[in-house]
Amino acid sequence: MCQIEIDEHCDVWSEAIVLARKPHRCSCCFSMIQSGQNYLRHFSALDGDVSPGTLCMDCKTDRDLFAEKHDGILAHPSGLLGMVEECVYEGDDGDEDSWRPMLSRIKIRRVRATKKEASNECHPKV
Ligand SMILES: [Zn+2]
Ligand SMILES: [Zn+2]
Repeated sequence: MCQIEIDEHCDVWSEAIVLARKPHRCSCCFSMIQSGQNYLRHFSALDGDVSPGTLCMDCKTDRDLFAEKHDGILAHPSGLLGMVEECVYEGDDGDEDSWRPMLSRIKIRRVRATKKEASNECHPKV
């Protein structure tokens, strides 16, 4: 396990699992969260800078797994991929093997999310 350093702690950190009433986009993998699906709504603030975020349930599960092995440190939704990347590339021996699968599946979700978007643009107007 690598040592993740957090420079500053947030003044406000609030998260809840909520039911989407309208589509949202995951801040980590960019997947669309459709209305009627559960997602994690994140809100944090540091020195008056508010930073909201969203996580799809897949990314939430990955983040929980990651936090379990990293002193319970939770990544901001938009910072999760970077944190896993850092662990894989700069962590101790063994980190790479443990966390590379998670890194790949988040990246695969990203590719899928971006691809879908590209094909949507090609649909004829109704
Ligand atoms: Zn690590
Ligand atoms: Zn996601």
